[in-house]
Amino acid sequence: MNISPEIRAKAAAAELALADIYADIDRIARVNTEKVLDCFREAEVSESLFTPSTGYGYGDRGRDVIDALSAKIFGGDAGFMRPQIISGTHAITVVLFGLLRPGDVLLSLSGMPYDTLQPVIGCDGEKGSGSLADFGVEFHAIPLKDGKMDLCALRACMEKYGSRVKVVHIQRSKGYETRPTHTVHEICEAAYAVRKNAAEFGFAAPYVTCDNCYGEFTEEREPALAVGEKEAGVDIIVGSLIKNPGGGMADNGGYIVGTEKAVELCGYRLSCPGVGLDAGASLGQNRNMLRGLFYAPHTVAQAMKTAHLAAYLFEEAGYTVSPRWNERRSDIIQTVECASPDGLCAFCRGIQSSSPIDAHVVPEPWEMPGYSDPVIMAAGAFVGGASIELSADGPLRAPYTAFLQGGLTYESARLAIMSALQQMSQN
Ligand SMILES: *Cc1c(COP(=O)(O)O)cnc(C)c1O
Repeated sequence: MNISPEIRAKAAAAELALADIYADIDRIARVNTEKVLDCFREAEVSESLFTPSTGYGYGDRGRDVIDALSAKIFGGDAGFMRPQIISGTHAITVVLFGLLRPGDVLLSLSGMPYDTLQPVIGCDGEKGSGSLADFGVEFHAIPLKDGKMDLCALRACMEKYGSRVKVVHIQRSKGYETRPTHTVHEICEAAYAVRKNAAEFGFAAPYVTCDNCYGEFTEEREPALAVGEKEAGVDIIVGSLIKNPGGGMADNGGYIVGTEKAVELCGYRLSCPGVGLDAGASLGQNRNMLRGLFYAPHTVAQAMKTAHLAAYLFEEAGYTVSPRWNERRSDIIQTVECASPDGLCAFCRGIQSSSPIDAHVVPEPWEMPGYSDPVIMAAGAFVGGASIELSADGPLRAPYTAFLQGGLTYESARLAIMSALQQMSQN
């Protein structure tokens, strides 16, 4: 690889500075690995569960065990993890349509939700596509205050809309924004505030849902309600298996975990009322999903170290990064402001050229549907679009921010970070 001795030396020095942070990441991976293995033992995971089912998939024991495992590992009373969920956006759509009814109000407590959810909610202004707005669900985004959820504004909104508020949605990770990630603690505090407000105003507590994409296994626990601590979490957490919880092993899928009632309603939306979670063939994916859950705490640790290394090296080279190299994280996303279009393209070229797949191709900006500026993406993944595998992308507009995430192995991802730095310094 075309990486200078100077840049290799910088990476080695960065790793010395990051030693304590890496040790803490390893500690979290150990805690989460133990939790996963305890759940596997309790659920009596065995090879026979890998047997694929077809058709309706009635009586697929592997599928039922994976559903129960997802609930247990993420701290909910119930849950499911299925290959029928095609993406994170689909999983969140299942949740919102599962819980909301005409006339209800949906509040977003972390500002505007992730780009791909805006057509789902209908806040992009499109009509007739079957969005929540088409079905008479009213939506209000509560802007963040200094990057944090604004609990005063939440209270005012809940007072204003009263019992019509059916879902309060929180997005843990920043998406394509520049705010800090909400920590599990902050999310649990917000969920507590939602219930307290509802009790004070005298109406039934709305469901609190959390888009948990990119957050799984970065802390010791997830923001779902744990059995026995009913006031300390959200009703539903939801995410994609081509991100953290798939461990880089799942071919596709997603999960929805939470309270019995909320999960049941989501199950009716995933398939249909009456059928719920009793059907759905696993089509041979059980082995990959179980292997993914097993690997996930470790894989997430690889991605976390990669993000810290990138933050350190690019900060040292004079770029603005977020989070800073020594800041605690609650997701795997790292941003680097590349300062110019050429800088952003060089960054992505560096990442691409060190990928296991398609290292020989050169990424170019293109007009992606749904985005106002050309976007450049670097991705060389074994699973199409998997962003637990090292990937980088960004819109070509100032300040030319690259969004970097993933890394199946730290050894390979660190080469890609060095290569990106090399490309940018030659630029
Ligand atoms: C990735 C992501 C999504 C959507 O997931 P897809 O699998 O790309 O549909 C939603 N929210 C956040 C915060 C994400 O990072």
